[in-house]
Amino acid sequence: MTRNQFSDGCAFVNGDYVPIAAAAIPILDMGFLRSDVTYDVVGVWNGQFFRLEDHLNRFEKSWNRLHMSPDISREGIRNALIECVRRAGLQHASVNMIMTRGISEKGNRDPRLFKNRFYAFAIPYVWLAGVDQQAQGVHLVIARQTIRTPTRAFDPAVKNFQWGDLTQGIYEAYERDGYTVVLPDADGNITEGPGFNVFAIKDQALRTPASGVLQGITRQTVLDLADEQGLSANASLLSADELRAADEIFLSSTAGGVIPVTTVDGQPVGNGNPGVITEKLRKRYWEAHDEERWTTSIDY
Ligand code: PLP
Repeated sequence: MTRNQFSDGCAFVNGDYVPIAAAAIPILDMGFLRSDVTYDVVGVWNGQFFRLEDHLNRFEKSWNRLHMSPDISREGIRNALIECVRRAGLQHASVNMIMTRGISEKGNRDPRLFKNRFYAFAIPYVWLAGVDQQAQGVHLVIARQTIRTPTRAFDPAVKNFQWGDLTQGIYEAYERDGYTVVLPDADGNITEGPGFNVFAIKDQALRTPASGVLQGITRQTVLDLADEQGLSANASLLSADELRAADEIFLSSTAGGVIPVTTVDGQPVGNGNPGVITEKLRKRYWEAHDEERWTTSIDY
């Protein structure tokens, strides 16, 4: 039997579907040269997209904020995403959609005159922290040397490739024996980390930073599930001290769902084990992947 050439992943580039290892972008694309790009990542679990329309909504909002106007329809984008997963035959996948400024014609630098470009790809599901690691919880560090890009410099609500601050933060986490990092803003309030939002639970109530962050779809799912369970949950300012004093902490991301945090800056969170409410939400998060309201099936 011949191996499916797309089994490591499938990309959609310039209107064609190509095996992931062969997918390439033009070096002159401003998405690459200037990080002039927005993107989104949606998960596929057990052969179903999770909250696909919410990801498409956020993607569309993001490219509009960057004044992009692609000549592909929402349906065209949706079909390309589905087709990438279908060709790769992946039951569990991370599916990327990317919109770039495009390529300059004749040295033009006016961003309004570019033809924006759409790319997509599906690869095997990516975990920010694997299942075993989630069972133990992860060690989190609050960065001291780097702040999150301020909203008025580049709004993190537009999902972007400007990861310089987040990557510096990862190095700081490693220097201080952390697994990952969360960045404060210029006033010392908590924002987010490389690929995730953060929740703190105090006296049974959930809080997550309101602004200066990506409005994560997993974050929204947690807020929805908490609400259904009658838990108080809201978005507001969250200081570093409030995070340190939390009874429970977890990260939320399409890359792994609800991820328990067991230490902050080397100090145990609660009793140093994944929290009870966190574990309940983690379980509900994966159960919700079978619920019709949030899933889109793929016809393989
Ligand atoms: N914050 C940042 C900077 C991210 O890159 C991501 C996702 O990759 C998130 C938060 C979580 O967003 P979502 O739950 O939509 O995956």
